[in-house]
Amino acid sequence: MFKSGIGREFEQEAKTVIVSAVLETTGQLRFGDGTDINITVTEKDVVADPEGKGVEKAVFAGTKRRGVDRRTMHELRNKYWEAGECFIPTLCGRCPTCMLLGFTGTTQKNPLIRDINCKSRILYATSYSVQRAGDAVTTHSRNQVNELTQTTAGSAGIHTEEVIVAGTDFPTYTTLHHVLDWEVGAFAHALLENVNQGRYTAASRAQGGMKFPEAGGKPMLVVDVSGPGIFPLPIPKTSAHEHRFKEVQSKFEEGGNVEESRARLEQFGFSVEETDEAHAWKRNGDEVGRRYSGEAALSYLRDRQGDFVDFLSTLKDGGSKEFQAGADEYYKKIKDKKGSEE
Ligand SMILES: [Zn+2]
Repeated sequence: MFKSGIGREFEQEAKTVIVSAVLETTGQLRFGDGTDINITVTEKDVVADPEGKGVEKAVFAGTKRRGVDRRTMHELRNKYWEAGECFIPTLCGRCPTCMLLGFTGTTQKNPLIRDINCKSRILYATSYSVQRAGDAVTTHSRNQVNELTQTTAGSAGIHTEEVIVAGTDFPTYTTLHHVLDWEVGAFAHALLENVNQGRYTAASRAQGGMKFPEAGGKPMLVVDVSGPGIFPLPIPKTSAHEHRFKEVQSKFEEGGNVEESRARLEQFGFSVEETDEAHAWKRNGDEVGRRYSGEAALSYLRDRQGDFVDFLSTLKDGGSKEFQAGADEYYKKIKDKKGSEE
């Protein structure tokens, strides 16, 4: 069936979600999706410190994270989707993940979506390593074997590549706009499985992998959820120039501390209700949003992953065609609206 947060049809169920998660490398790695095996240089960037001096950091680009996530979502979707192919770079534009992660119709050959540009409702911020590039990146040299003579080619055949070292931390922030539970679940599925299965890292002999590091014995993960999109609590974030992991840890610990949040929320005129798994902020008795942290945030994401699987199962036995028809109808409405404005 057609169920997407893209239109106003499911307004009551749509929400905004902010996922803050630290990812720590557990081996030497480069970022990528397994298709760009020829990159030999790790992306780095300079950020400013309070004295206005530049600090070099390793970069985990948001676009790269989105690319890997999209592939992971596609893999699961393909087990249920029965209405044609959709893969990178030939996106169909009319399936659940295209309508969530967006696509540029103008670069697609498919006439059905050629004049449509659909923005991603999941915004992947680029992440800077906590550790400075000097500590986070190292250079590897390895011999290129001459296949003809089965010898190494000497200094001319030495191939150097940059890798990110184990123990480098990347605080990642992702905002999901106007999403339904199953759409939160599509992201949750990608995040949790890509971390567990080491998929954020490029195929390489430098075997990588990532995990959620801990702060105060809890995974460094905070999820904020709000129907109207009102977030009075700051997300656990340090400045990009910060290089002390302890500082990042204390932000996440603070973020999960109810008393800390209560003071801030009450100052802004919200009341606070604490449940086992979250703390909610309310205005005039109505819940405005809630925060999950640590294990509770993980459970929240796992539950939404379940919603994603449940939603996908509705795409079997004609459900995919129904979804596609709903997508076409949505685009038609948009075009009609655009036409009447011109
Ligand atoms: Zn698609």
